[in-house]
Parts: sequence; C-alpha cells; structure tokens
Amino acid sequence: MKRIYASRVPTPEPWEEKHTALVRRITAQGMVLLENRHGLPLREGSKVALYGYGARNTAFCGYGAASINSRVQVSIEQGLRDNGIDVTTTAYLDRYEAAMREEEEAYFSGIRAVGGSLFGRLVKMYSEQFTPVAQIPISMEDVENSDTDTALFVITRVSGEGADRKATAGDYGLSEAEQNNLLFLSRNYRHVIVLLNTVGPVDTAFIRRLPNLGALLLVGLNGGVTGSATADVLTGRIVPEGKLTTTWAAQYWDYPNAHTFGLVDGNVDDEVYSEGIYVGYRYFDSFGVQPDYPFGYGLSYTSFSIQTKSVKTDGDRIEVQAEVANTGNTYCGRETLQLYASCPGKRLDQPAQRLIGFAKTGLLMPGQRELVTVQADVNVLSSYDEAVSGWILEAGDYPIRLGNSSRTTKPVAVLRVAGDALLEQCRAFSVRSDIKEPLRPMPEQSIFFGEKLPEDIPVLLWRQTQAPITHDYTLRKEQTQNLAKTAASERFTFRQLLGGQCTTEEMAASLSEDEMIALCVGKVAEPDGNGSSGSSLVCASDDVGGDVNGEVPLEVVVGASYTTAALIDSRMLPNIAMADGGCGIRLLPEFEMDETGKVLTAGISAIKNGEKLLNEEEKKFFAVVPKGTPYWQYTTALPMAAVLAQTWDVENWRICGEIEHREMERFGLKLWLAPGMNIHRNPLCGRNFEYYSEDPLLTGFCAAQVIQGIQNGGGAGTTIKHLACNNQEENRGGMNAQVSERALREIYLKGYEIAVKQAHPCAIMTGHNLVNGVNAAESYDLLTAAAREEWGFDGLVMTDWGTTSKSEAHGKYGQSDCDTCLKAGTDLIMPGTQADLDELKYAVTSGKLDIDDLRWCAWNVLKVAQLLMKE
Ligand code: BGC
Repeated sequence: MKRIYASRVPTPEPWEEKHTALVRRITAQGMVLLENRHGLPLREGSKVALYGYGARNTAFCGYGAASINSRVQVSIEQGLRDNGIDVTTTAYLDRYEAAMREEEEAYFSGIRAVGGSLFGRLVKMYSEQFTPVAQIPISMEDVENSDTDTALFVITRVSGEGADRKATAGDYGLSEAEQNNLLFLSRNYRHVIVLLNTVGPVDTAFIRRLPNLGALLLVGLNGGVTGSATADVLTGRIVPEGKLTTTWAAQYWDYPNAHTFGLVDGNVDDEVYSEGIYVGYRYFDSFGVQPDYPFGYGLSYTSFSIQTKSVKTDGDRIEVQAEVANTGNTYCGRETLQLYASCPGKRLDQPAQRLIGFAKTGLLMPGQRELVTVQADVNVLSSYDEAVSGWILEAGDYPIRLGNSSRTTKPVAVLRVAGDALLEQCRAFSVRSDIKEPLRPMPEQSIFFGEKLPEDIPVLLWRQTQAPITHDYTLRKEQTQNLAKTAASERFTFRQLLGGQCTTEEMAASLSEDEMIALCVGKVAEPDGNGSSGSSLVCASDDVGGDVNGEVPLEVVVGASYTTAALIDSRMLPNIAMADGGCGIRLLPEFEMDETGKVLTAGISAIKNGEKLLNEEEKKFFAVVPKGTPYWQYTTALPMAAVLAQTWDVENWRICGEIEHREMERFGLKLWLAPGMNIHRNPLCGRNFEYYSEDPLLTGFCAAQVIQGIQNGGGAGTTIKHLACNNQEENRGGMNAQVSERALREIYLKGYEIAVKQAHPCAIMTGHNLVNGVNAAESYDLLTAAAREEWGFDGLVMTDWGTTSKSEAHGKYGQSDCDTCLKAGTDLIMPGTQADLDELKYAVTSGKLDIDDLRWCAWNVLKVAQLLMKE
C-alpha cells in the first residue's frame, strides 16, 4: 500500500484559498511606501497607464532554493484590473511582451548553445539571469491613448542562489532605458508612481529627483499574490504600514563594505569584515552618513503622533508606554514603535544606537489613539568584550530612544548602569581573525554627537543582582561519554522507541557502525536522468520513505529531500522528508507516477523555464517518458522573507509559520529547510531576499515566531540556515569570511542565538562558506561551543547541499570532509552520496573518527526523528 500525499484532483483545495487570502494581506502589510507626494491612493474605477517590464511579467520570487510553485500567479497588471483599476496601456504591454519574448528566446538559445550537462546549463541560467534590457520606449501615442494623468512604472530585479547582484546600471542602478522612460513619463503625466518589484534595494537617487514623482512603493517579490497585494496598497484597501528592515543608502558606495564586497574588488575568496559591528544603520548612524531611506522607515497614507507616557524597569526588562494617535482625517493606519539604545562606549566602541524592541498598533481610525507598550530585555544592551570573553554592560548612561524609524528616535529615558557588569562568561573562540584595520568612528561623526538630553528625562537605575551566566563547555563530552557507557539489551526498533520501550540513548547504543554512518548521511542519491544527483534542486526524486505501522507502506513527497531510508526495514526508522525553502514549501507542483510508485515526471519541470534549457535530444528523451497517474501538490508562496520582516508584526510571522505547518502536514513533510537567517551585510548578496534584515534582533525575533508557528503544531520542524556569514553567493563554497569574534557574536550569530533560545528549531544548516579560515560545517566554535553549549541547541546540524562534495569548485580553500564535520558538530551530511558514506566508513576504520563521536551525531539525528514522528 502506498501513501501518497499529493492530490489526485487538479483543482485547488479549500485551504489554498484561505492561505492565499492570509498571505495577500500580510504581503500588502510588508510593502513599504518610500515616497508619498501625490497621486495615491488610486480611486476605484480610475484609469492608470501601466508601464515597465514587471507590469505583466511581475517577478514572483528569486531563484534557487527559495523559488516557489504557487498555483495563483497574479501580475501587477492583473492585480490592478481585478481590483477595479482600468489599465489603459494594453497596446504598450502587448508590444513589450512581444519584444521580451524575442529577447528571451535569444537568451535561452545562447545557454543551450553552451552545451555541457543540463545541470551546468541550469546553474548558468541561475547565475546569469535573464534580465531584459530592452525597456521598450514609451511613445506619445501610448500616452495619448492612455487617457489618464497617472502613470505607474514597474522596475524589476531578480537574484538568487549562486550569484550576487551587481553594483551596475540595470541591476543596483537604473538602466539608461529605465531612466529615459521615467523622464518621458514625468514630462507627460501629472503623477508618476514607481513600483519596485525588486529583490532588494536599488539606487533611488534618479527616481527621487523626478519632477512629477507621485509615489515610490517597495513591492518586493512575493509569490502569486504580488499583483493583488500591490493593488490593495495602491487603492488604499490596505493602507501602507511596512517599515524597512534594511538601510537604503543614497548610493551603493555608501555601504561600509561596498568596495570590497564579493566581485566588486574581484576577490571572491577572502571577504574581510573590517566594518566589524558597523553593519547597516549601526554604520550609517555612527558615521553620520545620510541614507535615502533609513532602517525602520516607511510612510502611510495617514500620519501619527507618538507621545511617551511612562518608562520603567524591573531590573531585567525596560518597558516604555506611549500613546499613538492617528492624526490624519481620512485613512486608517498602523504605526510601528521602535525602541533603540545608545551604549556608553568607554571600553568598547559602540554604534550610535541599536534596536532593542518594537511594537505595533492595531488599525487606528482617524483621530483614534492607542496606548502601546514596547518592551526590551536589558541583556540586549550588552556587548561582547573579547578581552574578557564575555557579554558585558559597561557602567554609564544608556539613552533609550523611541521613534518610528532609526532616524526619528527621541530619547525617552536613561538607563544608568551603576558599575561594569559581566552578564555572561563565554569562552573565546579557538579560531580568531586578525583584522588589521577595523572601522572605528570618531565620536563627532555620530548622528547624536553633542546631543543634550532633556533635564527632566527619567533616569532608571540598574544594578546587577544576578551572578553571570557561565558555561562549562563539557556538554558534548559528557553526552558522548554517557552514550558510550549506555548498554543496549537488544536491537531496538524505532517503533519501540516511540512506544517508550527504550530511550534514544539505548537505541543509539544498539546501532551498528554502518547504521550510524547511514544515519549521518542524507539519502544516497542516484543520478536521475537529468544529469544531476537528484538533490532537491532538480528534483525528480523517486525516493520512498516508510512509516512505522509495520507493513512498510511507502510515502512519496516529490521534490523534497530526505534523510536515509536505509533503516526502514531493519529498524522501522522512516526517513525525514525535507523541503525548501525561503518563500514557502517547494515541491514538484505536478507529476505523474506509475503503479510501482516511480515518478515519471522530470524534476526539471518544477523549475521555471527549465524546459527551455533542453537540447533536442533531451526534449526527445523527456517526450517519451511514459504516462502515469497525474498528481498535484501546489503550496502557498510566502512573501519574501525581507517583506515578511517589513511588517514588523509578530502575529504575521506566527501566521506564516502556521500556514507552513498545515501545508507540511498536508504533504507529509517533516523538516522545512528554512528560515534563512543571514544578515543583510551588503545589498548585493544574491540571497538577501531570503533573509530578514540587517539587524540581528529583528532577524532573531522574526525567525522565532515563524519557527514557533510551525513547530508548536507538532510533527513538523524547521532548519535555521545558513550558519554563519553566508553573506555572499559568488564562490559561496569557497568564500572565507574574516570577522572579529565580537562582530561574529553580536551581528552574525545573535539572530540564531535568539531563535534557538526562544523557539528551539529542530535543525541548523551550516553555510557553504568558511569563517576565519574554517569551513562553517567544520567549525567546533560555531556548532558545538556556541550553538549547543552556550545557546542550548538540542536538534541536529546538517550541512548545506554538497558541502562535502569533492567535485565542487571551492576556490582557494579546501572543501569540508565528512569526518571533520562530524567531529566539529555537524550531524548530517546533505544531500548525501555514496562517496560521503565511504568517506565516513574509512574515517572510522582508520581511526580518524572516533566511533563515540559518530554515535553522538547519530543520536542527534535520532532525537529529531523521534520528535518529528511521534505525533
Ligand atoms: C541551498 C540551501 C537549500 C538546499 C536544498 C542549497 O543549495 O543553499 O539553502 O536548502 O540547497 O535545496
């Protein structure tokens, strides 16, 4: 008997509609209104002239692991038409469509002409994305026929896995054609509204200077609801309320690492994080650099006043109460209060301010007021002092600031710390960087330099009342020794484990060496005819898993990845089905299967435009694939992570987690390969859209809610990734991030720490990159000392896909070895190959890997399997 989760019916299931509606609202709430001069909101029934590539070819997602397969795909054009807006430029849009198709065909025949493996062509398509440069000119005839004074111009930018964006015109900058078109529109329309259907920041200098610019809206890439949600915001059905989670500089070169990032300086092997802790607004505010749109910024159709009512502390927490009023006359709206703190900076350099908490109002009618409470833990004010290897609060005054963006904060209180305090004693990382010229601001550069705090500002006294937290760093050793001492009275099965007839330790103790090795390596992939190894990237997977009912019924979840199925028969241990990714669950949306359970559909069909990569022979090969029974498994695309974060709404984050939980349950998935938690260090990183923010606190809080939304329902887990400093996609497997321990802990690890402590994700995925010369998957500091022994992580750690592959290009540095990974704290090599199994077998036989270490890793995998399968 086979258990197949996919639907036999081609039509949408009821939950799809419900999830789409939820996601549409959340997406609209995450869009950020950057300029609001005139022309918005659009009145129902009004006419608009719609221009630009993304108008009809709206980008819905980035590429790679975070691409999506939602059934609904509404372009901006369609979204406007569906929502009572009359788009009057059909002739122009048709013309554009035709020009673009031609260009696209030339692009794909160029890729096909390169030849090589299909996988190679796929990678080429990803790294050299089709970006139509042919912004077709807009004619006077278009203008005259449009019969309106309002023009909408859509700018689109897409990026993804394996390649970074470029600081050039047509990517970070506007292309000449885009500029010409915008100028033309500005001359011929009263209101020019620019929509940014982009993966991240673009240079807005030109747009801001347009004489007739009416509004600028950051739309993002948000799955199939992108067009509908854009219409919601433009018509005021949802009044804009999103706030940026990343600083938009006045020009690319203003970012602190602009000149050295990735390809910019040509060195993709070594990335020196010389800006240290000065990432994002921490840099802009400390060095007095004026951004175009600061962190936390976003406009509404209405206005708000914020009045602080009280500030207090109970020692552990600071609490600010403020009254927010909607001071507009026409529109409802929501405001986000952001709480920041400035640290004294005597012993340690400090940024001008850092975010310590936030809260959002409900929907306020014009004139309505709400008392909002913002809370912050005192320990988020602490800094990592490398001199004492611990988190400290320096003695002195900490102005606490409240505002609705990082550049509108006003001091509302001072937290006075009586004496230097050590809050947490850590152990120095064993691998350290040696950054020669760290960036250090002069005090007079700070945006707060010379600030006089109001004389009557409340002063809250803080004194240390608790002993510092300490860690003994022996957890792993003790657990390993205990496991080694555990005796197994029999060969326990997983069913016995679930039934409480043995402990995980006993089951682990009963595993043979080969079984343990199998558990520590993901599925063993067979070439699948697509020229790839059958990983989830080109996913024609015919893997089967089992369940624990004894008769080994088989489950099929096509398009996912798996842990091993090697122990199904002998130990009744089902494999853990995993699926990406950053913008929702990525499965093969439609497939056919024969009566033996073999999936006949090529995974390439799950990849947008994948079929256009096929040469004639491959086309013939795929055309003769026998027909089987058709199945459907569409899932809901979430807004890209950055847009989700821009809602600054814990409820929304939780709801997205709950949506994922329900869909994972529906399709028999156990582990979601997300959320991505890397920091927006530089706007060119190709995968920033999968990550939440430049701020670690916001990143951690956002991820924690998503994780809880998924995991609280039981039977489904999350994988936070890519630990750590995977902030560059060019040469991601060989990039060495050289970063100080303080910046590593305060900026790049903090979000993970918060997520682990608040929400206990089941898994961590390591980065492909190196940190201070050590492959992330081989870093004892990151995976064992920090994650497990300091933060209390108790799940499994897996590598990113192909991290141990000896055939992948790794630039100047060597790739990871399976045994070194396991010794360092990685438990599971993904996606897993025969070579990985052989490597581990050799390592154990030759004594390179201690069997007790192997058992400890296998035990971690077993624990997660037990947690996920027990419900
Ligand atoms: C990506 C991961 C993803 C994995 C599985 C890798 O290439 O970096 O983020 O989860 O593939 O698809």
